[in-house]
Amino acid sequence: MMERFEGSFTQQEPIPEDGIEAALAVLRHGRLHRYNTAPGEVAETALLEEEFAALTGARYCLAVASGGYAMACALRAVGVGPGDPVLSNAFTLAPVPGAIASVGARPVFVEVTEDLTIDLAHLEVQAQASGARVLLLSHMRGHVCDMEALMALCDRLDVAVIEDCAHTMGATWRGVPSGRHGRVGCYSMQTYKHVNSGEGGFIITDDAQVAARAVLLSGSYMLYARHRAAPPPEAFDGIRLDTPNISGRMDNLRAAILRPQLRLLADRVARWGALYRALETGLADTPALRLIPRPAHEVYVGSSFQFLLPDWSAGRIRALIARCAARGVELKWFGAPDPVAFTSRYDHWRYANPTPLPQTDRLLAGLIDMRVPLTFTPEDCALIARIIRAEVLAVQQAGEEADAAVPLAD
Ligand SMILES: *Cc1c(COP(=O)(O)O)cnc(C)c1O
Repeated sequence: MMERFEGSFTQQEPIPEDGIEAALAVLRHGRLHRYNTAPGEVAETALLEEEFAALTGARYCLAVASGGYAMACALRAVGVGPGDPVLSNAFTLAPVPGAIASVGARPVFVEVTEDLTIDLAHLEVQAQASGARVLLLSHMRGHVCDMEALMALCDRLDVAVIEDCAHTMGATWRGVPSGRHGRVGCYSMQTYKHVNSGEGGFIITDDAQVAARAVLLSGSYMLYARHRAAPPPEAFDGIRLDTPNISGRMDNLRAAILRPQLRLLADRVARWGALYRALETGLADTPALRLIPRPAHEVYVGSSFQFLLPDWSAGRIRALIARCAARGVELKWFGAPDPVAFTSRYDHWRYANPTPLPQTDRLLAGLIDMRVPLTFTPEDCALIARIIRAEVLAVQQAGEEADAAVPLAD
């Protein structure tokens, strides 16, 4: 009998009961705005920032409305302005170039390696060609480049690094939390990330000036002294009248939902690791399928899974996706000619005027992506791997047939 997977690839876990309790308390007192506090009360939002700063070891933390807002705010806070070139991976999600465009700056895309990380040699070429002073480095799908080599290169080029840690909250590189290598780290708390408040973002940094500017930019008015993970009021003296208020605050309801989840993060990382390894084990040694190697000194968060089918035709890949879908396994493909749902790639972001990147094109043409929600069990992942493996073999055997049945024309 043909096995079928019945689970949902988009079903996250519920909000933990203590998060629901804390949210109800905020709803009952009604003070949802972060600066609306009773005498002596510390806002949930301020406590959340303090706790995330402690978790990552950052000096300063600001919670904001979304991950995209966090990146745009960080870019402004480090001084990026209209017309400035900003380097970024070509393999990333749409909100990353969107954040660059939102400050009037210009994305300059960098090639991706077959390990799905930024190509450092091409980064140097693009930095020199564009004169960019900032890199918005996306740890896309949790794949982290050699951070020592990257930081040494960026220091040499005098390029400031802002890390997009939407897929690496809870990850570490040689024991250093992701987001702590560059000048600023940005995170997302959107439903599909590692903690879930529907929408939300964090900015962390050790730089007092960057932190103070970000707090003012996020819409603190002159209430910045109510923060607990912001620099002291003196840091705001020279900039408070020169920094626009670009409203994008976190609120107390979402902060209340998030605080208990921060306490669960380490456990979630361990559980995701078990799911990831079940998929990896199940797919090991599948002919034609390349797994992405994970460095031993990295703790990654297996909230999604990628593999490569190098040099497969579009027809074969479409056949594989259809056959897996028929057995309940939802795969996404970065090679599709048109953006589908959340999946798009650099040459779809036409406003950024991208120039072709042949290495990235070739890679994305064979890149398959899959969500791994924590509602899956390791047994689910073993079943999913069996289905993918069987269908990869079947499509390969059908070979030319599959190519002929599905039009190749893109
Ligand atoms: C989700 C995501 C973001 C931020 O997204 P928001 O929805 O604005 O919170 C940034 N980068 C990547 C790679 C993402 O997946």
